[in-house]
Amino acid sequence: MTDVIIIGAGPAGLTAAIYAQRAGKSVMLLEAKIYGGQIVNTPDIENYPGIKHISGFEYAQGLYEQAMSFGAEFKMEAALRIEDKGDYKIVKTANGDYEAKAVILATGAKNRPLGIEREADMVGKGVSYCATCDGMFYRGKRVAVNGGGNTAIEDAEFLSNVAEKVYVIHRRDEFRADAKDVERLKAKENVEFVLNSTVKSLVGEDKLTAIEVENKETGDVTTIEIDGLFIAIGQMPDNKAFADVAELDPKGYIQAGESCKTETPGVFTAGDCRTKEVRQLTTAAADGAIAALAAAQYIATLA
Ligand code: NAP
Repeated sequence: MTDVIIIGAGPAGLTAAIYAQRAGKSVMLLEAKIYGGQIVNTPDIENYPGIKHISGFEYAQGLYEQAMSFGAEFKMEAALRIEDKGDYKIVKTANGDYEAKAVILATGAKNRPLGIEREADMVGKGVSYCATCDGMFYRGKRVAVNGGGNTAIEDAEFLSNVAEKVYVIHRRDEFRADAKDVERLKAKENVEFVLNSTVKSLVGEDKLTAIEVENKETGDVTTIEIDGLFIAIGQMPDNKAFADVAELDPKGYIQAGESCKTETPGVFTAGDCRTKEVRQLTTAAADGAIAALAAAQYIATLA
């Protein structure tokens, strides 16, 4: 039996793996996709203490190597559910069952869709959720970024160095993103802000050719001709599979405070998947440490 199974190998899960192993516990990491989580899509990290600048991919790679250097087992498998057996837990995947004394849920969050017609059908035909992954397809073309958070502003800056023209469409005229980054973007000649506006529809059959955008104040609908629309309107959690062992809030985040403890003894949570005010790389890493040390303490209480 493994001491700690960690579900999710983003910054929270990988940090938990480091701390749990340094506390002498064996660790299995289960990850449905590639390690690193959402941070791999961030071109530049400039706010992680002690590191002046690093790309998200490079950061994730270093963190993964650090976590694996202590001997953790990594399985690219999706955890489907957790069965609480009291002193131990069974984590079920499509490949079988894994037993652990404690489980840390570090499932992160996934991209929030806009919810407009044909959005899913147009992914890969002009609609994208990842500027660093798909931006190069739009070299010299016209694109729009929808959103007003750090991701949208960073995506727009990245695209402004690749595309001919970048529209930033945001539903308000104030931004959640860091003011410094918004100001830097505003100074770019090929970037145009379309504020108090929402994307209403996608134009083009097999390929995106334009979007229809509604100004919320005037009600006017304008057509903006673009080749690519990058949707960056935040993330949403996906924890339904674990709702029987970890209570969820109305938005689907795992109910847990700074202790990272869920309602089930032996089940902990870390990072963007839990209820919290600030979702940052630093807070994900901090959660990973707290959850791992709490799991180690919990294991010590078992007979
Ligand atoms: P976010 O901060 O939640 O921002 C989402 C943006 O999308 C907001 O501007 C929001 O508008 C808008 N939005 C939400 N739902 C919408 C809808 N249905 N239609 C139109 N617009 C909608 O998300 P994020 O930018 O992905 O960032 C997530 C977290 O990661 C944040 O804590 C962020 O600071 C962090 N992050 C940090 C960095 C960094 O520090 N380098 C980089 C990327 C992300 P309103 O403002 O009107 O609500």
